Amino acid sequence: TMKRIGLTGGIASGKSTASAILRGWGACIIDADAIAHGLMEPQAPLYEAYRAHFGEGVILPDGQLNRRRIGQIAFADPAEKRWLDETAHPVIRRAIEQELERAEAAGEPAVILDIPLLFETGWQAHVDESWLIDVPEPLQLARLQSRNGYSREEATRRIAAQMPLSEKRRLADVIIDNSGTEQELMERLHVLWQKQPHQAAGSNSRKEETHI
Ligand code: ATP
Repeated sequence: TMKRIGLTGGIASGKSTASAILRGWGACIIDADAIAHGLMEPQAPLYEAYRAHFGEGVILPDGQLNRRRIGQIAFADPAEKRWLDETAHPVIRRAIEQELERAEAAGEPAVILDIPLLFETGWQAHVDESWLIDVPEPLQLARLQSRNGYSREEATRRIAAQMPLSEKRRLADVIIDNSGTEQELMERLHVLWQKQPHQAAGSNSRKEETHI
């Protein structure tokens, strides 16, 4: 049976960087954020649910959902936040489950579920192993500020709104330190990746064949 690995971390800890590295080695990656965004595209289930609940004020002139506006509404009103969570989470969960089933049916030996809210959403119970991309808080703050152009205050506020990293460290099965260079992250991931069940399905081998 397929091994399910949950890849997580705090904001700006390096999850996307890590999953891009793993993808480069042919890992089967399921990107929870991408799935969630897809469900918010026009005509998709969450788009329609949000439009019905919040009204036309959350639709941008180009027809896309104004996710920033919805974020502001949820941030300002705990009841709206609860409605959003209760509406979105089951829909996203089902979509992720479908992707996992597809990977399993395709014979993938292992799958990496890239999911920022692994612990917060209860997904930990549905993976075999959880991997935490970990950075010391001051470095997290610096990387978040430089990537998003946030002020120190804004970056601090975003980090404070999340589950503390100390708590995530306690919950994770494997802690992957990303306080060094990207090269060092790659080396650490490589050691770990070598220990995982490989081959079989691999789009990798097929890709190589087409180059011969
Ligand atoms: P989010 O949860 O906000 O989507 P993330 O966990 O996916 O973030 P990344 O976007 O991968 O984090 O990394 C955050 C920032 O830090 C990016 O600008 C990235 O280029 C940078 N970064 C990641 N790892 C390193 C590293 N080892 N050295 C230097 N910069 C890094």
